[in-house]
Amino acid sequence: MVVYLEQRFPAHDQTTNSSDDHQIQSDLNICRELESQGIPITTSNGRPDRDFGGLTKDSKTLAIIHPLTAHQISAVLRAAVASPTLTVAPCGNAHSIHGQAFAHRGIVLDMPAMPTSGKVTLAGAGDFADVGAGATWEEVLKRCVGEHGMAPRSWTDYLGLTVGGTVSNAGVSGQAFRHGPQSSNVMEMEVVTGNGDVVVCSERQNSDLFFAVLGGLGQFGVITKATIALQPAPTTVRWIRLVYTEFSAFAGDAEFLVTQPESNSFDYVEGFVFVNSDDPVNGWPSVPIGSGQVFDQAEIPRTAGPVLYCLELVLHYKNKGDDSASVDKIVDVRLQRLRYCRDLRFEVDVSYVEFLLRVKHVEQKAVANGTWHTPHPWLNLFVSQRDIADFDRLIFKKILKDGIGGPMLVYPLIKSKWDSRTSVVLPEGEIFYIVALLRFSGPNNTGPTVDNMVAQNQEIIRCCAEHGFDFKLYLPHYRTTEQWKAHFGDQWSRFVDRKSRFDPMAILAPGQRIFSRAH
Ligand code: FAD
Repeated sequence: MVVYLEQRFPAHDQTTNSSDDHQIQSDLNICRELESQGIPITTSNGRPDRDFGGLTKDSKTLAIIHPLTAHQISAVLRAAVASPTLTVAPCGNAHSIHGQAFAHRGIVLDMPAMPTSGKVTLAGAGDFADVGAGATWEEVLKRCVGEHGMAPRSWTDYLGLTVGGTVSNAGVSGQAFRHGPQSSNVMEMEVVTGNGDVVVCSERQNSDLFFAVLGGLGQFGVITKATIALQPAPTTVRWIRLVYTEFSAFAGDAEFLVTQPESNSFDYVEGFVFVNSDDPVNGWPSVPIGSGQVFDQAEIPRTAGPVLYCLELVLHYKNKGDDSASVDKIVDVRLQRLRYCRDLRFEVDVSYVEFLLRVKHVEQKAVANGTWHTPHPWLNLFVSQRDIADFDRLIFKKILKDGIGGPMLVYPLIKSKWDSRTSVVLPEGEIFYIVALLRFSGPNNTGPTVDNMVAQNQEIIRCCAEHGFDFKLYLPHYRTTEQWKAHFGDQWSRFVDRKSRFDPMAILAPGQRIFSRAH
């Protein structure tokens, strides 16, 4: 295998100088040594590194390691510490946008390759699951719900993401207002630190490492296993979409629902903005959920603006005796005081699993039409409640009034459900919104160019900054330490301190571009 690596990084590569060549040869020797210890290594045969974002052009991995055990990961990290330049990136399914899971001229750890990744074991009284960090949430769904009738409390919308990858960021969906993000639902982890130590950590045991790693952007350790909290899974859910013409009514109702007790609210609350037009991707047709449902635009007042809003809710069928008629009654009571357009309400009953796998259908369609493999300049932000109406006025209604060729999510979250001891940083205030601009680009250079989309993202960030909005990037991407300092604000010194303890040589996750490799 190392022969392939040598072909991939030939001596006197045009992009390297002779001292680089020497270092690459020396790092290849380290790979050779690791391989001789039985650690599986391959190469991507000279292809540039490519993640879901598809925006990173300059990253070229030296070697991909498919670890079998945590101790093999430890051996890799100890070998990297001994080299002056080698870095190591844990990689889930590379669903990042800006190369965060890559290591230019370094080693990528293929976490789904770990044999524990396919394994999900129920623990405790069946209310916890031990999962390999490289498992996808879809695998967790299949094992927990399919075999045991239990489910994680907090999900992401799309389940092709890995457990280690999402809890290294946060992991947010429509359940987070009640249960917090996925990173708030981890009870214990096994982590290999940047020093190569294999450590079990939880709120009570090695808690500094535990909270550092949650939301830690891969900076402090490689998560190999996680124990996550479960609750009984319903079999069926009522899935509802309500249309609003005014942002104030939409946001007011969404905030009302996320602050109500469970008995007066729903089990999932999300929302999105769509264009007030017949555009099949961005407009009215993107709202109905059931087959045969149509969006009657005659119900939209002439005074409505360029964009409209949709609140998306789900109620679980919780009790054994629940039938459609009894759920109708509960739903009617809970919707009574909301201010949506009464004739623009869409609802269907679907199985819980079908609801959770809803984005898989989007993926299958996008793979078929070629838009899954084109670049995705996505932008995710957390915006404080204080500024969200201005965000709507300046950004949704102006900059984004024609849509983005994909969903524009916006819904409120509750800060006290996020543990401030984790490494995630949030805006001020108890309520903040996630804004997710999930852009898709056409396969044949149709629609706006990728450069235009990236420029529009920058314009949005600039607009937020110029108007003094209290916001943070979610799944952040910066190029300089100064920008990272500003991102973390008063949490920067804690982040740096954690780095100095758990990965002092800055081996881990270099694709985040937060720290430079120490010599
Ligand atoms: P990767 O992209 O492979 O890795 C992400 C980061 O985590 C990297 O820095 C990597 O080094 C690090 N990392 C990965 N595994 C480990 C590990 N085991 N130990 C330590 N560090 C690790 N996010 C949401 O919150 N909610 C959503 O609903 C949502 N939907 C999405 C839908 C799609 C189609 C896509 C592409 C992304 C979505 N995301 C969502 C974003 C997602 O959370 C991130 O892409 C995240 O990075 C997870 O992807 P991954 O598992 O492929 O991780």
